[in-house]
Amino acid sequence: MGRFTRLYEVVPRMDKTISRMRNRLVEDNFRGINSKPLLNSHMRVLEENISKVFTHDIFVIIREQIEFEKQFVMAKRLPYANVGSIVFYVTQYGRSKRQWCVDYHLDKINPKFFCSCKLFESDGIPCAHIFCVMKTENVCKFPDFLIRSRWTRDAAKQFELPKSLGYYPDKTIQIAR
Ligand SMILES: [Zn+2]
Repeated sequence: MGRFTRLYEVVPRMDKTISRMRNRLVEDNFRGINSKPLLNSHMRVLEENISKVFTHDIFVIIREQIEFEKQFVMAKRLPYANVGSIVFYVTQYGRSKRQWCVDYHLDKINPKFFCSCKLFESDGIPCAHIFCVMKTENVCKFPDFLIRSRWTRDAAKQFELPKSLGYYPDKTIQIAR
């Protein structure tokens, strides 16, 4: 215990954090490569797109938002022809006072979505309200706009280091032993 603690303490905190992050991304990506997720949501086409782009953990988080979408009802759809966008008002089933506003910018190549809950802006995770709009508008391709590169499989690959360069799942513990 004493020997382990001493060695653990001299490792700068930031190094440990980055190392944990790298290991986590590599493990996450490894899981993604080696297992095919079960696609069983009510928005399966988008779910499949998402499973191919994001790491496994992020895919699971986004799929929760797809499932959460079932709780919402489309209340209003207000097109603004001149601006090229549609504003949607989404409410929660049985709780109509709760309302979110999603601004959908029409663009054939790269449509954009902005929700008043700001989940995507803060965490890079598209929210259930945006999925509600995508379902209403029959969007069948997951928009590039909603892909934060840091959550993708490609980003996770950049953290991979060959074993010859000394990558081990937990180097600190191995040195301590
Ligand atoms: Zn939202």
